[in-house]
This record gives sequence, C-alpha cells and structure tokens, in this order.
Amino acid sequence: MMRVVGCITNQHDPRLLVLAACICLLACFTTLTLVARAERSRADRSLAWLAAAAAVFGCGVWSLHFVAMLAFMPGLEIDYRPGLTLLSILVATCGTLLALLCSRLPLSRAARCALAGAALGASVAAMHAVGVAAMEVPGTLSIDRPQLAWSLCVGIVLAVIAFLRSDRLSGMRRRLEVSGWLAACVLGVHFIGMSALSITLGAGGIGTNPTGSGLSAQGGLGYGMLATGVGAVSLVVLVTSLAATLMEQHLSDRTMLELQRLRLLSSISREVMIIHQDGLILEVNAAGATLFGEPVEALLGRQFLDLFSVGSRPGAYAQMTHGSEPQAPAKLEVRVRSGRIVPVEVACRAIDFIGRPATAVALVDQSERRRDAETIRHLAQHDALTGLPNRLLLHERMIHMLASSDAQQTSVALLHVDLDRFKTCNDLLGDHGADLLLGELAARLTAELRASDTLARIGGDEFVILCAVQEDARQVAALAGRLLQALGQPFELDGIRIEPAASIGIALYPDDATGQAALLRAAGTALREAKRETPGSFRFFERGMDQVLHERVELEHDLRLAIENDELELHYQPLFSCSSGVIEGYEALIRWRHPRRGMVMPIDFIPLAEQTGLIVPIGEWAVRTACIEASKWPARQSIAVNVSPLQFRQSNLPLMVADALLSSGLPAHRLEIEITEGVLITDTDDAIRTLSALRAQGVRVSLDDFGTGYSSLSYLSSFAVDKIKIDRSFVRTLGQNEGAGLLVRTIIELGHHLGLTVVAEGVETPQQLAMIQGKGCDQVQGYLLGRPTRLEQGEPPQRPSERQPELQSEDAD
Ligand code: C2E
Ligand code: CA
Ligand code: CA
Repeated sequence: MMRVVGCITNQHDPRLLVLAACICLLACFTTLTLVARAERSRADRSLAWLAAAAAVFGCGVWSLHFVAMLAFMPGLEIDYRPGLTLLSILVATCGTLLALLCSRLPLSRAARCALAGAALGASVAAMHAVGVAAMEVPGTLSIDRPQLAWSLCVGIVLAVIAFLRSDRLSGMRRRLEVSGWLAACVLGVHFIGMSALSITLGAGGIGTNPTGSGLSAQGGLGYGMLATGVGAVSLVVLVTSLAATLMEQHLSDRTMLELQRLRLLSSISREVMIIHQDGLILEVNAAGATLFGEPVEALLGRQFLDLFSVGSRPGAYAQMTHGSEPQAPAKLEVRVRSGRIVPVEVACRAIDFIGRPATAVALVDQSERRRDAETIRHLAQHDALTGLPNRLLLHERMIHMLASSDAQQTSVALLHVDLDRFKTCNDLLGDHGADLLLGELAARLTAELRASDTLARIGGDEFVILCAVQEDARQVAALAGRLLQALGQPFELDGIRIEPAASIGIALYPDDATGQAALLRAAGTALREAKRETPGSFRFFERGMDQVLHERVELEHDLRLAIENDELELHYQPLFSCSSGVIEGYEALIRWRHPRRGMVMPIDFIPLAEQTGLIVPIGEWAVRTACIEASKWPARQSIAVNVSPLQFRQSNLPLMVADALLSSGLPAHRLEIEITEGVLITDTDDAIRTLSALRAQGVRVSLDDFGTGYSSLSYLSSFAVDKIKIDRSFVRTLGQNEGAGLLVRTIIELGHHLGLTVVAEGVETPQQLAMIQGKGCDQVQGYLLGRPTRLEQGEPPQRPSERQPELQSEDAD
C-alpha cells in the first residue's frame, strides 16, 4: 500500500493525475449511461448499446492508462510502440464487451456478477499489461509479480462490486455510485500495477523532451505528442459520447412518455389496437389481451398474420401490405387462444411509431354485432308469437323449393290453413288465451309435418304449409286430413273448452300455378271454396275456381262503389193478415242494379258483403232507407228489415236503429228486425244484449227462416223475439207429405203458446195458402200474394185492396 501511495505521490505529475482521474470517472459514468440505455432497449438494439458502452469504457481505460503513464515520471522519456498501443485499446474494448455480455447470462445474480466482474477486472489488467508492453524505456523494466497479481485481484473485486451494484442504473445516484466503483477498479488496477514496475536506467540516461512534440528518435510516439493527443482525443470522445448519450436518453425519455400516453389511451379503448412493423407485433392494448385470451407480453414479438384464422390470412396480408393509404375495413376472422374463431373488422393505417414507420391496426370484435344481426334477421323472418317462419321467410323458402322442384321434376304442395270462427275463440279466451291457442295449434301442425316441410304463420289465424309431394296428391290429401283432425282436438283453458276447427285450401306446383304468387293465390282460392261449401274441410284447387275468384274480386270492387253510386235499391214484399187478408206490413228486400250485370239478387252479393265486411254499411243503408220509406205509409203497416249476423254482432246496431227511427220519424213499433238463428248460436250473451236493447226501444224482432237452423225450438223459450217466420222449405212440402203438415202445425201452436206471431213465407199456391190458413197461422207472405216490388212514388208497392179478395176467397174455402 505504501508503495502505491509513494508511486502516486512521488512519481506522478499531479496535474496529469487529476486529468487521468477525470477521464476515468467520465468514462465510467458514460459507460453506465449507455448500459442503462441498453437495458431499456429491445433485444436487437441492446447489443449495439452494449458495444458502444464497451468502446467508451475501453477508450476511457486506455486514455487513463496513457495519461497516467505520461504523468509517470515525466522527466523520463518513454516511447510507445504504435501496434501494441492500439492493441491495448482493442483488448480493453473487447474485454469490457465480454464482461457486459456475461452480466446478462441467464445465471444467478451472484454468478453473473462474479463472472462479469472477473472478465472486466481481467480485461482492465490485460489492457494495462499490453500498454506496459508497448513502452520502450531507456533502461530495463522489471516487474514485481506478486504486486501485479495483487492489482489484478483488486481490479476483479472492485469490478464485481460494481456489477453487484449495477441493478438500477436508471437512477442518477446509483449511476454515480457505480461509476465510483468502476473508476476505483480501473485506477486500482493501474496504480497498483504501476507500483509493480521499476525501471533501471541504461546508458542513454534520463533524457527529456522539453518541446513535447514529434516522434522520438526510435520512431515511437513521443511524450509531447502523446500527451496532447491522448488527452485531447479522450476528452473529446468522452464528452461527446456523454453528451450524445444524455441527449439520447432525454429523447428516449420523451419517447417513453409518449409511448406511455399512447398505451394509456389504447388501454381505455374497447377496440383492439395493435402496432406492428413488417408483421412483427410491437404493441397491443389490454383489449387485445382480452380478445386473444393471452397477456400482452405473450403477444408482443409475434407475427401479426398468426393472429388470424387460416382462411383470413390472405385478407389480413392484403391489409398489411397496403400502401400508406388508409384501407376500407375488412371483415376477417381471428383465432383466439381457446381456439375459438372470432369475426372482426380490421382497419389498418400507416403510422410513425416512435420515429419508425409502422402500421396501426384496429380490430373490432364483430361477434356481438353478428349475434345482433342474426337476432334481427330471425325477428324479421319469424312470427313473434309462435316462432314460426313468417310470410317473408315463406317466400324465401318457396323460391328455393320451387326451383328445386323444377330441377328435379317433382311437385310441391302448398296448404293454406285458416281457422274457422277464430274470432269467437278470441272472444271466449281473451287475447292471452287466444295466443296460447295459436301456439298450441302451431305445435299440433308442426307435429304432423316432416322436418323438410315449412310451416309459416302468415296472418292472425292463417298458416301455410309448404311440402314436397313425394307420391301423389292422395298423400297431400291424407296430410290435410291429419292436420284437420289434429287441429280439431279440444283445447281447454281456465275451464273454457273450445273445439277449434279449420279449413284448408291446397294448390300444387307446377300443376295449378307457375310461380309462387300464383301458387299462394290458388291455395287461397281453394280455401275460400272450402270455407264457402263446407267449413272444416279441405279442398284442392280446380281450374275454374280462379274464374270464380276473379269474378268475386271484380264484384267486390263494384260492391264497394255500389252505395256511393246509388246502385242499391229496396224492393218490398207484403205480409198479409191470414184472418183479415189485410196487408199488415212489408219486408224490405235488397237489390243491386248493376250497370253491366243488370239486377243482382241478394243471394249473389250478400254472402260476399258478409265476408268482406261491406254488409255493415250496406245493412245500415237498408235500415235507414226502409225506415224513411215506411214513415210515409199508413200507420198500421210495419216494415221488416233483414239484418245479417255480422251486422247484428256490431255493438252499435241498437244505436244505429234508434238513430234511423229518430231521423225518419218512424215509430219503433212499426219496425221489425229479421234475424236468423245463426245469430243466436254464436255469441249468445252478446246476442241477448243486442236483442234486449232493440226490444227496449219498442222495435220488434222476428226469427227468420225458422226451422232450418239447429235446435230451433229450444231457442224460442230462451230468446226474446216477437215473431217467427216459418221457412219456405216447409211451406213448399205442405201437401206433399203428412209430416210436413204436422211439423208446420206444431211450430204454429208452439209459437202461439209462447205468445209469438207466426208467419209462413214462400206461399206460392192457393193450396199452400189454404193449408197455412187452416193451421191458424197469423200472417202469410209469398209470390202468390205479392212479389217483392219497387216503391212507386212513396206509396206502398201494392195496395191491400188488390190482394184482399184472393185471400178472402182462399179463406172461404
Ligand atoms: P229472406 O229473408 O228469407 O227473404 C225472403 C226471400 O224469399 C226473398 O228472396 C224473397 O224474394 C223470396 N220469396 C218471397 N216469396 C217467395 C215465394 O213465394 N217463393 C220463392 N221461391 N221465394 C219467395 P230475396 O229477395 O232473393 O232475398 C234472399 C235473401 O237475401 C233474404 O232471404 C235475406 O236473407 C237476404 N236479404 C235480402 N235483403 C236483405 C237485406 O236488406 N239485408 C240482409 N242482411 N239480407 C237481405
Ligand atoms: Ca227475411
Ligand atoms: Ca226467410
């Protein structure tokens, strides 16, 4: 130790010593700054930073050595061999690099530091040795080997300490501390090493080079030149590299700040953000980690294309290789960690990422949107109540089915199912109950069908079945039969039992129609025929049906305009008193004077008016017109107006009748409303309410076509009516068989027993009249006594006097 101190204090120029120490400290600090930078860089960049650090340290150690050498016995003229001098720099630099690399080996911390420290200490000592070997002294150089070994040990120990302390170099204090340890290492090796040297002067004696310039006589580097050169170069190199490093650090700190800001922003985004450079992923946000089910670190450094499903890779590649122009988002699929394929929308954009060109990619998870789209599509194509396909989907399926039928030369059947009396079911069960009924009926239909058949709900109580015909029409007929039977099973809800019924119209493709619209129309026509003829049955479409339909459509169109165009008129048929032969009233019977068809009878348009609902305005017109006309007749004559079931069910019928009476001035007791038994069977409670409301006004009610309905007699006692009209079918058979006469007599007697007026209609022959009179009937009506005729100038169509004699004569028989 004393030797070392002596070496420093006695043999060195103190100014140069200070310079050497400064260079050493500066070099160490710069080195550590570069090492810290290397630690924050990516693996590929890190090596470059380490190499730079090694070069700076190497140069620094080298400079220290030579400046210190110059400070060593300045009076002594020492030359340096250029080759070895340069080699010494190389030794220091490469040794340092080796040490730095060792410090990064995947070993325990202690092992790493020991190895790196040993390498560094050894390389400093080696540099020192080569530097000494480069010296040419005027005498003999002798070395104290134990002292030299001691210098090596000191160097290694201090270097190990420096590495052990170099874990958090980003902090300035730590960096200064470690710089101190390193500098101590370098200075220690140097000065202990120098104290191991001694020079025995030879013949040349001690010579000086006062000018300090130029080469020495031996061709080595002279003292002055070396002093100036090494000092200046070292300082310049060190100061410049330190400045550059600090500047770089400042910039990179800013970049880090920017990067942090970028990360913060992208971490809040719900969209997946990826930054890649030539396909290598540099950044991924938290949403990306969530989508891919992997931590961000696992995604960094991966290939961008690997994120995509195999099928989407070409698309992703196309997006990747776009120019700087932003591309329209592409719909692709990524494969996440669980193996699930997720649909995404990918948008790429070229960006400048921390000073280098890169691509920013936004991925939007489309799963939810796709699910929503599917839900919307399902809702758009299905009926919300039953979940069955709706009209829209039916059309789509029809297109496919008809096309495949064309291709395979097979037939397709379309069954149009319509529930009968659904309104009644609705009234009985209520809206909720009716919904349940529809759901149940849909299930019953489904149960009868094959998976390949389509069952669609196309209206409130309308279903359509589309199925391939595998054999022939008989197979379809069998299916229709099964469907009707299934639908007809009783349905019970909250104690209410309903026996649903339906009618089915069937059309076959391509026999009955050439396209889907025509096929639907044909099935609809067949359905209407089924409903018209026998509700609760099925019918196949037949040629000619469409002609009927066509006419019907035309008729319906004309009928809508009939009231407006004043084409309707009432004819009046008289009702005679059987006893006096006096006309006691008239029945108003509607006619339609059609501009082209001529006179259309009610049988040809009343059913149509019923089906289309046109009966409501037409019936109202009949009631109002009849009241106005009758108000002009003699007070003893009444007017009977027919009211159809649909019209009767209108809740405002009593109100309308009251208004007709009020506005015409006809007393209520002169108006008779004729209803049929059908009215009473359905909606019994409502019917009773309406009847009561009418009768409360004083209006009388007749039961028309009596005897043709269901269990007619039982109704008489339960319904409040004033009159029954024996249907003309009974009158016609009078005289033909015994039973008919008996039946008519029974009806008359029963009516009288209940206090009702009894009318016989359809009396065509004097015999019929005689028999009716004989059985005690109250009134008669028929062609024999008077046909329905038009009104002439406000007068009743036929004057009683004209018919009275006939009646009386019949009476007299
Ligand atoms: P309805 O109420 O049974 O009317 C009696 C029908 O028998 C009338 O036929 C009448 O012309 C016909 N008739 C009368 N006497 C005889 C006879 O001796 N022999 C034969 N064969 N027929 C006779 P019309 O006028 O063709 O009316 C047919 C049906 O149309 C009516 O049957 C009625 O149900 C309905 N109707 C007529 N006018 C109206 C109306 O204004 N409103 C409603 N809702 N229905 C009406
Ligand atoms: Ca009638
Ligand atoms: Ca009748």
